Amino acid sequence: MWRLPFYLLSIWLGFKFVRWALRYLESNKSEPMIRSGNDKKCVDDLVKDPVCGKFVPVKNSISTVKNGNQVHFCSEACLKQYLDQ
Ligand SMILES: [Zn+2]
Repeated sequence: MWRLPFYLLSIWLGFKFVRWALRYLESNKSEPMIRSGNDKKCVDDLVKDPVCGKFVPVKNSISTVKNGNQVHFCSEACLKQYLDQ
């Protein structure tokens, strides 16, 4: 006679577990794919020094704008030589 409450309890627990599992799966699925980050890439890109032909990372280069184009140099000496031409 006391079996019925036991069954009801196990069904209730099973139901709760299923609901929890579904919510867990759903929260994993709907997690937004946030991949921040190609910001670094352009900083590490290599640019060619038109004077000496050397490739230098953008962040280490010395740049100037001439005729609307940005030009990058490995050193101030190259920049100076370029501007003196
Ligand atoms: Zn150079």
